[in-house]
Amino acid sequence: MKQNYNTMYQLEQVGKTVTLFGWVAKKRNLGGLIFIDLRDRSGVIQLALKPEDQAYSIAESLHSEDVITATGTIIERASKNQNLVTGDIEVEVTSLTVLNRAQELPFEIKNDTTALEETRLMYRYLDLRRETLKHNLLMRHRITTSIRTYLNELNFVEVETPILCKSTPEGARDYLVPSRVNKGSFYALPQSPQLFKQLLMIGGMERYYQIARCFRDEDLRADRQPEFTQVDMEMSFVNEEEVRAMTEGLLQKVMKDTLGLEITVPFPTMRYSDAMNYYGSDKPDLRFGMKLRDMTSLFHQTTFSVFRNILDDHGVIKGIVVREVANSYSRKKIDGFTTYVKRYGASNLAWLKYQEQTFTGSIAKVLSEEEQAALVRDYRLQDGDMIFIIAGKPSMVNTALGELRLHIGKDLDLLDPNEYQFLWVVDFPLFEYSEEDGRYYACHHPFTAPKDDSVAHLLTDPGKCYAKAYDVVLNGYEVGGGSIRIHQQEVQQKMFEALGMTPEVIDEKFGYFVRAFGYGTPPHGGLALGLERLTMLICKTDNIKDVIAFPKTASASDLMSESPNLVDPKQLEELHIAVTK
Ligand code: ASP
Repeated sequence: MKQNYNTMYQLEQVGKTVTLFGWVAKKRNLGGLIFIDLRDRSGVIQLALKPEDQAYSIAESLHSEDVITATGTIIERASKNQNLVTGDIEVEVTSLTVLNRAQELPFEIKNDTTALEETRLMYRYLDLRRETLKHNLLMRHRITTSIRTYLNELNFVEVETPILCKSTPEGARDYLVPSRVNKGSFYALPQSPQLFKQLLMIGGMERYYQIARCFRDEDLRADRQPEFTQVDMEMSFVNEEEVRAMTEGLLQKVMKDTLGLEITVPFPTMRYSDAMNYYGSDKPDLRFGMKLRDMTSLFHQTTFSVFRNILDDHGVIKGIVVREVANSYSRKKIDGFTTYVKRYGASNLAWLKYQEQTFTGSIAKVLSEEEQAALVRDYRLQDGDMIFIIAGKPSMVNTALGELRLHIGKDLDLLDPNEYQFLWVVDFPLFEYSEEDGRYYACHHPFTAPKDDSVAHLLTDPGKCYAKAYDVVLNGYEVGGGSIRIHQQEVQQKMFEALGMTPEVIDEKFGYFVRAFGYGTPPHGGLALGLERLTMLICKTDNIKDVIAFPKTASASDLMSESPNLVDPKQLEELHIAVTK
């Protein structure tokens, strides 16, 4: 069995005889001397062969990615390579065996590959040989190891919950699995183990965790996959602060164990309403400032008809101040920003440059003297500063300006991937209203406890209810979220009613759950971390596929195994399924 690894050998082992295994990463034939970079999971070590060596002819025949084993003596290198961990030494080979030949590869195994993503996904096992992906998977392993160690020490119990579950409304679309034994019935794959972990608390487990696979049939994005992993946790007899402190300790340990970073706890907290007002997002990136400024009152006497109409229509005017860019931001660049914010519903982006105590820009001519003075005074404008303004409905303005803030932040290189800014977003509303459907939905999920003073308003004034919920945010990503749960049967019933469910629907969908509440339910709460998002940030990538061994494409397919695929009609028949055209 291979027990050693390439990068364990250093100058101290000179003279030692070793047997190594691995892949031929590179072969160089320097007229008489052959050098082979032998790669294993740990990295590369150099093998050296001279024409008089017995194994020379085998070495001559080697190609990239052939699998070999070599025995030889460690010697000090004449010319050292600072870029390699094993760069001070090489192995003078005495015997060499080819364990398996490799065909010509569809792409070269190297870090800065130019191979198409599609090709790399088809041959994922080859892509995994590249340093970056290997590094990410090993990092993911370190993260889960660190998490398990932390939670085990705190007396959490790791429990597995079912993958074949009951389909429940609310939330994303379910992946369904037909039952062969129960004709016409379906299981759903879990969107999260939420109900099971709460039932584990009712079952007396007190502290639970699971590194749990979750499935959601949603449209995919750069940070979303149809199946993903949550670090799912639940605790009995806790309040919000205790769950947050436990999570902070966990993230502190993970950052220390993976990156050697000391993270300060407690993390700052921000109310949901402040996050929306100042950053236009419920997951603000705090690595830079450039907060959204409410300019509604500054423009309350505006004669500019566009602003006037919006204000008369109860809209808002908000802006961001971008320092020292007036000279460098061209018309073309600004037009690019205008196009960018259109995606978020802003039909217009007003802008101003402040140079030599004068305003120029799209709305410079409509500014009154008072407005000019107020802008300079309120935002402490200095020569070279710029202001971007969006006016309209509050939700559109916040979103569009929040996105522009991030876009400009990126453009100005303000998002340092080595900086980690954790934050709790708290005081979420319990419900959000959908104009389209004319009803309330749960902001998190229907098991989230209302704040104590909101319980009385659940049915009378849902819009005014707040939740005992918290999201942990890191560099603009929601890396986790959770809440204290409802643990009284009558409150849970009310919650379902507020969501417009009739007693029959409640009974059919959640009867078992509500029933369990009647048999002694401890107060409980928890949180789930998105393992992939956390790993992405630690690995400094913005593509979720980079931290998953076998990911799916944007159309939810696996290009390597070609799933999903058509199945034998016989299989469908057994499952009592007919596919319509
Ligand atoms: N189950 C929740 C989710 O998936 C997390 C939690 O509340 O613990 O978002």
